[in-house]
Amino acid sequence: MNHASYLIRSASLLGTTTADVLVRDGVIAAVGENLGESAEGATVIDAAGLVALPGMVDLHTHLREPGREDAETVETGTRAAALGGFTAVHAMANSSPVADTAGVVEQVYQLGRESGWVDVRPVGAVTVGLAGEQLAELGAMADSRARVRVFSDDGICVSDPVMMRRALEYVKAFDGVIAQHAQEPRLTAGAQMNEGRVSAVLGLAGWPAVAEESIIARDVLLAQHVGSRLHVCHVSTAGSVEIIRWAKERGINVTAEVTPHHLLLTEELVRSWNPVYKVNPPLRADADVHALRAALADGTIDIVGTDHAPHPREAKECEWASAAMGMTGLETALSVVQETMIESGLMTWADFARVTSTAPAAIGRLSGQGRPLEVGEPANIVLVDPAARWNVDPSAMATKGRNSPFAGMELPGRVVATFFHGHPTVLGGKLNSPYVHGAI
Ligand SMILES: [Zn+2]
Repeated sequence: MNHASYLIRSASLLGTTTADVLVRDGVIAAVGENLGESAEGATVIDAAGLVALPGMVDLHTHLREPGREDAETVETGTRAAALGGFTAVHAMANSSPVADTAGVVEQVYQLGRESGWVDVRPVGAVTVGLAGEQLAELGAMADSRARVRVFSDDGICVSDPVMMRRALEYVKAFDGVIAQHAQEPRLTAGAQMNEGRVSAVLGLAGWPAVAEESIIARDVLLAQHVGSRLHVCHVSTAGSVEIIRWAKERGINVTAEVTPHHLLLTEELVRSWNPVYKVNPPLRADADVHALRAALADGTIDIVGTDHAPHPREAKECEWASAAMGMTGLETALSVVQETMIESGLMTWADFARVTSTAPAAIGRLSGQGRPLEVGEPANIVLVDPAARWNVDPSAMATKGRNSPFAGMELPGRVVATFFHGHPTVLGGKLNSPYVHGAI
């Protein structure tokens, strides 16, 4: 356990009121003006000009371990997460072996505890081996030490409607949620980019928007029929937004996510033939980007999820057709959301806290995360310098992945400090030291 105390002086809480925050024994011990006198022995951190936010929570991270340690490990991925302002990540199930048993999810959970940079909450696979044929041990994973609540075959769509129905029914027993990678496989065979004007010019087979939208339409109706909880991963089209808006108006229990890259980048980048822009779902058109921003601002889309997908160099630095799909995102998410949603005037820092922390923690049923910056709450806090600007350099990142689509861009906002259970895992913008967990 960590008994050090820290006085965060003159921070702007959620970008509004300025106050001191006293962190002691892992919790927020006091919030108010001029706490200096009550903070004897505390390490003082001058936070004037910095915004204090609840630690970010990612519902969609590919940590690659076990099995693809050449791409990422729990250690490297969670270092990247801490540097990016996260205090919790959900580790996607498409590892090797797949996280489809209590044994694998407990292994990932344990690796997270040992690393000590953020909370690692494993996502369980919906079907055995992501094969779509047989339900995985959802109950055993839920009851395990990893307490899995989010289940996903992400990377692959649960396309069989009977399988999707059974999964939605099953997770009701333990308040779980099915996170769907919405993509009708028969409409996307051989797809290389968004289907549209640019794919026609480049002569590439495309993902049509309807492949995503038809699965979302089916799944919200299934969720309504079963009375269960559905989460839609990485929504990427304006039409998907309309379906989710319709479903929410009808009271269907659906939540949705958008990635930072879908908030900023468009299919026009594919004209460069640089595989760093190859991703699933693909970068879409300008109108889609604007619809996604509006939907995140008005709450139709609930959260930002990074879909951090590191790949080894050889899988991305090759010709377009054979390149792997995916982009890194943990160390740039905050800046991209600031650029697209806050600098544009669409959202405030309080909204930012909702979509990057409060709401994803609630969807994942993650206790101790996404909490308000109030006395008695766990001290999972990120301090951001909103006025800083920086140039994205993938070679300087903690992730093993070098496949950042933001490489070379100048973005606003830097993480100055990340407090995890009251311990500064990041200080002065650099990794400090991990948190040492007590007995389990
Ligand atoms: Zn996916």
